[in-house]
Amino acid sequence: MTRALVWFRRDLRVSDHPALSRAVERHRDGVVAAFALTPAMWRAHDDAPAKVDLWLRCADALSRELAARNIPLVTLRAEGDDELAAKLLDLATRGRCAALLHHREYEVNERRRDERVRLAFAQAGLEVEALHDRVAVPPDALRTGSGGAYRVFTPYRRAWSAWLEARGCAPLAAVGAQPRVELEAAAPPASLEGFEPEVAPGLWPAGELRAQARLARFVDERLADYHRERDLPATDGTSALSPYLAAGVISPRQCLQRAVDANGGRVTAGEPGPLTWISELAWRDFYQQVLVNFPRVSMGRAFQPATEAVRWRDAPDELARWEAGETGFPLVDAAMRQLRETGWMHNRLRMLVSMFLTKDLLIDWRAGERFFMRHLVDGDLAANNGGWQWSASTGTDAQPWFRVFNPWTQSARFDPDAAFVKRWIPALKPLSPKGIHTPEETLRQRLGYPPPMVDHASARLRALAAFGEVRGAQRDESTVPQ
Ligand code: FAD
Repeated sequence: MTRALVWFRRDLRVSDHPALSRAVERHRDGVVAAFALTPAMWRAHDDAPAKVDLWLRCADALSRELAARNIPLVTLRAEGDDELAAKLLDLATRGRCAALLHHREYEVNERRRDERVRLAFAQAGLEVEALHDRVAVPPDALRTGSGGAYRVFTPYRRAWSAWLEARGCAPLAAVGAQPRVELEAAAPPASLEGFEPEVAPGLWPAGELRAQARLARFVDERLADYHRERDLPATDGTSALSPYLAAGVISPRQCLQRAVDANGGRVTAGEPGPLTWISELAWRDFYQQVLVNFPRVSMGRAFQPATEAVRWRDAPDELARWEAGETGFPLVDAAMRQLRETGWMHNRLRMLVSMFLTKDLLIDWRAGERFFMRHLVDGDLAANNGGWQWSASTGTDAQPWFRVFNPWTQSARFDPDAAFVKRWIPALKPLSPKGIHTPEETLRQRLGYPPPMVDHASARLRALAAFGEVRGAQRDESTVPQ
């Protein structure tokens, strides 16, 4: 008898699933699937209720896809790594499985957990196979000329493209029906105590088929103009696939393949729309490899150790105003309200609000990173940490530390008709398109909208001084802004 146990984590799909395909290929007598609820770890990692809710709904959709292939999905629940290892081993024994297969996760605690599970299986004489899946290019595949890990995006992107041009990124087909396994499936619960979502589930429909449909629609209708539209939050110019990529409901290879096809088979040259989108997928891989090669970023440390000395302000009331979307800067507030209501925020606005918190308010990026994780439906340690450290100028490709976004001009430039501001701050609707970005004091009072909580020009100087103290005259190499 040769059967396999496949442990589904942030890879909730049946197509292009390397571990599932390998299990089917190597174990001809059937497959058992596991999905584990680990609320203690999720809480410790600040996983947002909206994200956990999406996981549960996608795991439920997955269980039906698997059932149609005679693969029972068994949901387990464990508080700690030891209990999890014991429950997985028990399931493998009950299912008469000879091996456990899963995909690699790169965060420090997840690696520790997986090692604990591997040991438990090894002690029981069972094999464990861990495969790369989360990225298009494995994080250990690319090295700089001197043999180190990439610290800067642009050369990474070049090497990444060359690797893909040479090897391709063809996704695997979904597996077919398997021999029956006499084990009862246990579906995931509809909800989990402590993770009640504040976001309407209809906003993020569950399941692989929905994610594939979203990708197809984006590629057909938006990809060609992506380079023009992606910075305008009032349009649907981006794919909004991040929650599905983060939960692994769709794979990066499936996304890439569609974009490469639309770009005449090319990764490095071609049409500006697909090319720009391919670059965003490269950013995603880049930050995953940063996590693997510089594990300090996974433990709350700055990528650039010198910036640990920045004297951030302890200003809980100001942090609370930023969180609530009450800063008095319309586009910043509209963005924060979008996050709280939908669990998602447009990339341009993520850059704006993170720059505002870390530069205008000079509040530690870690506070913002945590708040984002607690609310994002697509919260992902590597991308979130990378984004926050980029904005705070403590990270890899930090733009020159002396560059600070101006929230007034960003507003006029990227939301010229104020359509986005009006959508999220209806109180400002009566204002003219010109005046709405910088409302006058009397109008603010009349409309019940707060005054700006800082003077941007002097806040900018304060930030420059704080960074100047630790960086001296150091100048970072600039790269193209994300
Ligand atoms: P698209 O523009 O359609 O891009 C396609 C995909 O590429 C995205 O779904 C995403 O997986 C990836 N991607 C795009 N931009 C980036 C980027 N800069 N870094 C890494 N991957 C990228 N992204 C997350 O997935 N999870 C996070 O927790 C997260 N936190 C962020 C925090 C900050 C402060 C910043 C500045 C960015 C963060 N991002 C995060 C990156 C980016 O904002 C989102 O991936 C993007 O807005 C998702 O929208 P989309 O799916 O429409 O993206």
